[in-house]
Amino acid sequence: MSALQRAVFLDRDGTIIEEAGYPDRLERIVFFPFSVDAVRTLNGGGFAVVVVTNQSGIARGVVPEAFVGEAHQYIAERMQAGGARIDAFYYCRHHPEAFDVSLRGPCDCRKPQPGLLRRAAADLGLDLSRSFIVGDRWQDLAAGQAVGARGVLVRTGVGREQEQRTDASVPDALVVDDLAAAAASILQQA
Ligand SMILES: [Mg+2]
Ligand SMILES: [Zn+2]
Repeated sequence: MSALQRAVFLDRDGTIIEEAGYPDRLERIVFFPFSVDAVRTLNGGGFAVVVVTNQSGIARGVVPEAFVGEAHQYIAERMQAGGARIDAFYYCRHHPEAFDVSLRGPCDCRKPQPGLLRRAAADLGLDLSRSFIVGDRWQDLAAGQAVGARGVLVRTGVGREQEQRTDASVPDALVVDDLAAAAASILQQA
């Protein structure tokens, strides 16, 4: 039998890179200074590292879908150059207000829906109940909660505002300053 691997799911905007609205060119993909090291730490802990990101800019017609692929390629290369590895990227291209009806949904993959996590688990053989999700919005953590993955909210991006919004909070969530602290805490719990 093959053992399922545990994963750390990472939100992209506001968690790995600066929150920049709808980035549509590489100059707007700005890494936090600790992101490469944090991902390398998680790799060393034996976790699959999977990016799960809502990219409604596609549905809204403000981000070309091809750019999302280009951005992920760029992020993967930057990680690789620093000895870090992202195992896969998954994104949701839908939004309820999409111009294009086919992108309007409802879909099962726009966080807080857990579709991206489920898809990754099926593709990569992941044990969701032993996995974690790190994000700067409660909806990231809610996607994890829906499949039994533990959540860590980071205070980067919009995380500081989200921390105050206790109406939307996810029970038992850990709140830390940034992805570096999240990685350290996940390794401690693992
Ligand atoms: Mg985010
Ligand atoms: Zn979707």
